[in-house]
Amino acid sequence: MKRRDILTAAGVGLAATALAGCQDSGNKQATGSAAQSGGEQQTFNWKMVTSWPKNFPGVGVGAERFAQLVDEMSNGRLKVRVYAAGELVPALEVFDAVSRGTAEMGHSAPYYWKGKVPAAQFFCAMPFGPNAQEMNAWLHHGGGMQLWEEVYAQYGVLPMACGATGVQTAGWFNKEINSVNDFKGLKMRTPGLGGEVLTRMGGTVVNMPAGEIFTALQTGAIDATEWIGPYNDLALGLHKAAKYYYTPGWQEPNVTFELDINLKAWETLPNDLKAIVRAAARAINGDMLDDYNAKNMEALEQLRAQGVQVRRLPDEVLARLKEVSAEVVLAAAAADPAARKVYEHLAAYLARLVEYAEVSEKDIYNIRYSPS
Ligand code: CA
Repeated sequence: MKRRDILTAAGVGLAATALAGCQDSGNKQATGSAAQSGGEQQTFNWKMVTSWPKNFPGVGVGAERFAQLVDEMSNGRLKVRVYAAGELVPALEVFDAVSRGTAEMGHSAPYYWKGKVPAAQFFCAMPFGPNAQEMNAWLHHGGGMQLWEEVYAQYGVLPMACGATGVQTAGWFNKEINSVNDFKGLKMRTPGLGGEVLTRMGGTVVNMPAGEIFTALQTGAIDATEWIGPYNDLALGLHKAAKYYYTPGWQEPNVTFELDINLKAWETLPNDLKAIVRAAARAINGDMLDDYNAKNMEALEQLRAQGVQVRRLPDEVLARLKEVSAEVVLAAAAADPAARKVYEHLAAYLARLVEYAEVSEKDIYNIRYSPS
């Protein structure tokens, strides 16, 4: 009873405050000093271009949830219309579209722009690099976001981390991988630094958006592809186009997705809407990872039930991939001053995280309950 009394009293208090706020706002408008309250009432209709098929599980749904959350949190004052890949601009032109202001917002993966912004890939994924929680620690509490903002500012874009996949799979193959020589001549879809590793291993690497992968694999235009993980791979039907499903996702222990915001558009938002966008991006950044962790597990159960062969890459192959990855990462960092600065910051931070993981996550994985 006492607790209810307190809650009721608090509710009355809040209602009274809100009412006072309304009257205050109304008074301001009535007296003509409405510049600030006028700004607070302005409604913004923004476009968000994405690299994903409509309502695509995980990453595409995350973009939709972001828009919905912003709408609800802002009481409809910031409406974000989400465009699937190709609706307004092609999948791999999201960054340019936001940079030039064709759309106020975009949702995509930073490493798609490595040709234009070499440093971007280090905010996204690194072969044998950080997992999702390590990437999030660096970005949000280790100085990573400041670097990301600095790198994108020259393109007129404000980045925010907005989703993570967690550990990916090594991908779908129509040729068995038994030794390092099996990568020679392999035609594979893999973006980012992982793609460069496969090129050095003798493979031929292509990049293509999600919507084109299944057909390329089915027709033999490519021999192999990685995409994300069981949840997304099942949705694309990749198990119907390839024989072998390899783990682990050495090339992408995590991929972090980005929310891109045109800086000029950003500056037109009042501070409360800016705070809402930041809070929604943080919420979706975490929620998408939760979604992947839950659905990847379920999807892999389904794939196994359908007879998919899940194979682990041989130790010898993983060891060579790790060596080549180190070369590729260092070469990418050396090729561009901004990339070097970002890489060195991330690498130094990751070394500390890895040391901590030895006495925390890694050890718990070893000792915790396991399925009997
Ligand atoms: Ca991937």
